[in-house]
Amino acid sequence: MTFADLGLSPKVLSAVIDAGYTQPTPIQAGAIPHALAGKDVLGIAQTGTGKTASFVLPMLTRLERGRARARMPRTLILEPTRELAAQVEENFIKYGKNHRLNIALLIGGVSFDDQERKLERGADVLIATPGRMLDHFERGKLLLTGVEILVIDEADRMLDMGFIPDIERICKLIPFTRQTLFFSATMPPEITRLTQQFLQAPVRVEVSKPATTAANITQRLVKSGSKPWAKRERLRNLIRSEGDGLKNAIIFCNRKSEVATLFRSLVRHEFDAGALHGDMDQRARMTMLENFRKGNLKLLVASDVAARGLDIPDVSHVFNFDVPTHAEDYVHRIGRTGRAGRSGKAFTLVTRADEKYVTGIEKLIGQEIEWFDGDLSTLTVEDEANERPSRRGRAPKQREEDSRRRERREQARQQPPQKEESAHSERTREQKPSSRRHSEEKDAHPPVGFGDDIPDFMKVPGKV
Ligand code: AMP
Repeated sequence: MTFADLGLSPKVLSAVIDAGYTQPTPIQAGAIPHALAGKDVLGIAQTGTGKTASFVLPMLTRLERGRARARMPRTLILEPTRELAAQVEENFIKYGKNHRLNIALLIGGVSFDDQERKLERGADVLIATPGRMLDHFERGKLLLTGVEILVIDEADRMLDMGFIPDIERICKLIPFTRQTLFFSATMPPEITRLTQQFLQAPVRVEVSKPATTAANITQRLVKSGSKPWAKRERLRNLIRSEGDGLKNAIIFCNRKSEVATLFRSLVRHEFDAGALHGDMDQRARMTMLENFRKGNLKLLVASDVAARGLDIPDVSHVFNFDVPTHAEDYVHRIGRTGRAGRSGKAFTLVTRADEKYVTGIEKLIGQEIEWFDGDLSTLTVEDEANERPSRRGRAPKQREEDSRRRERREQARQQPPQKEESAHSERTREQKPSSRRHSEEKDAHPPVGFGDDIPDFMKVPGKV
């Protein structure tokens, strides 16, 4: 089957050809003809399957008739995160390059005024996160009575993030004569209930069983000691052992605070890393993402919320620094690699406390995940020790590396500040407020001989 068989308009077809796509993906082949026919669609598909184009392309075709009126958008797409919303906008720009459509993006972290001006001009396509959209609605800047097509994307994620009451409210504000295109990677009971309430005789298009992982992703469990420093060391060794095969990677943590700590630690160990978490402002997140996408950054440490649905083609590796507590998150995380048929690798660090979560994941994906170098029963006493290995006991190679690093640091201290610094060192400095510097150095170089017995007052940094 080709795109020409799906019934898309010539303008859309030409943009698809320019984008370099020749064959529709299964979700596109299944959903587009029904969406063009004006039917409600329930698409069960993960990100990475081409599902964005499966609603953007038919919407563009249908929008060719009619025009927008002030404050009355013609279509509305709801996304759980700002990044996803921005990506959908990019898709509209890419595939809509032969159209003259007004697109408005309503997301948090951006000024209300600019968004209001766009709404005032009349939006053909309104892409929004639920909270920001309702804010505009409550300010009286938005009328939803003209919406002809409603898209609810990543519904299971909306559920995780507590957006379902907002979604229900929005659905009730839009005329029931609308067409609804609804997408979710999994179908938990709350989502099924939502579809029963708000979709009318939907055509169900399911491209893979809920929560299956792609066959082209090599998955491995990696035993690790449970202390944070032990996990960080394990991760570093793992990254190094992958060598040139590691083109770029996303490293997932369960908590925002862990994202920040791991990011700082990686930079300190001279890895080319950046961070993405929900507390960063929109501009910083976008810049970080853009750098990663362009290949200016090799490792991206991220939380689930920040990374959900990111369209980053060709990520070679995913590392789960923490085992996700929700099994579905595992599927989403590792789905960042092995996209569009490429091969990818996904490593998950597992400590003794994580066993039950691993069992949950294996149950969900219906397969056992292989261990990288032995299961948890092969953890050694040192792996589980409370103290870091003393540097006296380190291998000669490691000692040499440490001493080289010490020397470099000494030199850096003695040199006057350079005028021009690399982006890398700038990033390092930006993320290292002086108040944290002491604890970070402590982290990289544990005290020799005293171990944890050094009284805290002795660890205060001296002035250089
Ligand atoms: P999505 O599932 O929408 O996040 O899309 C995943 C990736 O597949 C994106 O990088 C798209 O640009 C790409 N893509 C979408 N449709 C096709 C297609 N028909 N053929 C090849 N790649 C595609």
